Amino acid sequence: MNLRENVRLAPYTTLELGGPARYFVECASESEVRAALAHAAAHELPVFVLGGGSNVVFADEGFRGLVLHVAIGRDQGIAFGERDAAAPEISAGAGADWDTLVRGAVERGWTGVECLSGIPGSVGGTPIQNVGAYGQEIAETLVRVTCLDRATLERRTFTARECEFGYRDSRFKRRDRGRYVVLDVTLQLRRDTPPRVRYPELRDAVTRAGSLDAAAPADAVRLVRQTVLALRRSKSMVLDAADPNARSAGSFFMNPVLSRAAFAELEQRWHSTGGAGAIPSFAAGDAVKVPAAWLVERAGFVKGYRRGGAGVSGRHALALVNLGGTSAELLALAEAIRAGVKGRFGITLECEPEVVR
Ligand code: NAP
Repeated sequence: MNLRENVRLAPYTTLELGGPARYFVECASESEVRAALAHAAAHELPVFVLGGGSNVVFADEGFRGLVLHVAIGRDQGIAFGERDAAAPEISAGAGADWDTLVRGAVERGWTGVECLSGIPGSVGGTPIQNVGAYGQEIAETLVRVTCLDRATLERRTFTARECEFGYRDSRFKRRDRGRYVVLDVTLQLRRDTPPRVRYPELRDAVTRAGSLDAAAPADAVRLVRQTVLALRRSKSMVLDAADPNARSAGSFFMNPVLSRAAFAELEQRWHSTGGAGAIPSFAAGDAVKVPAAWLVERAGFVKGYRRGGAGVSGRHALALVNLGGTSAELLALAEAIRAGVKGRFGITLECEPEVVR
């Protein structure tokens, strides 16, 4: 175990923010994770488990315990199943790069994760919030997740059903929050199956780029990936060192899902306070999903808004960007936005990234 001291956390996050970890250990195997957890328990150190760093804000003061960086399978840690299988499997260590997995699946012409192209972060983070985009989510292809119980050091495997997935949600965010370290993930994809493009924004963009109907399934999958990457790039939602808007944690706020009664109240409030036009909304079962970006902009925090060293991305109102400032500045901006949305609409936005103090 290579235990290091006072390691700056900023380079391990896509926001590039955060002070030092008192202790930091990179774990490339299950046994290293076990050793790190045992060490932390013996020394009564709080532990933070870090994956790809795409969904975390570390405080400027850093973290006074042990940061356990999961690097299992980071190098060559993705096992692609038989090319010819009808339902090929992919297994990957938690530390493997998510988009490398997606690229490998798409290169093989396999269907099931193409809409999840270009999402920053590691494989191990994907089941936690049931990562999804453009009408597809990991719950549709995941078959198992192997985890290590942080307290008992027992191994446990969960099926997709046992993960209790919901919209950007799973048991790992709720009743088992903080309990497990994800070790590896197995997905099952499909071969010779046309991709389903349900999301209108994506469907329109794919149609402009080429014809899905005329394409063989493997080519259609590639076209969808290319289109998703282009869409994400246009919103600065892919990692790009040259793009100042990309120094973010992706979406900073969850899209609120309201009961029909709460949505009616929201509409009433919007119109009675001079709001013009309809509030964009989408059915989510019996409830209504409202784009958080719309609320943020209507509360006055428009794209490109800047406050000190933090700002709202010039390309997407849901992404907060580090403009050379501090975590404190970024979190202050997040709080100002939450207060603004609460004041204007009566809705409390939930932050998506984990804030670690
Ligand atoms: P967007 O397309 O601007 O959409 C904003 C919101 O409107 C989302 O809640 C989205 O739902 C909803 N929406 C838009 N069109 C819809 C439709 N036809 N039917 C149902 N709902 C619709 O979103 P964006 O911020 O640019 O992100 C693009 C995609 O990446 C979205 O799917 C978004 O959820 C996803 N994303 C996911 C994560 C994550 O998993 N943590 C982070 C960032 C972005 P959905 O959220 O259900 O798509």
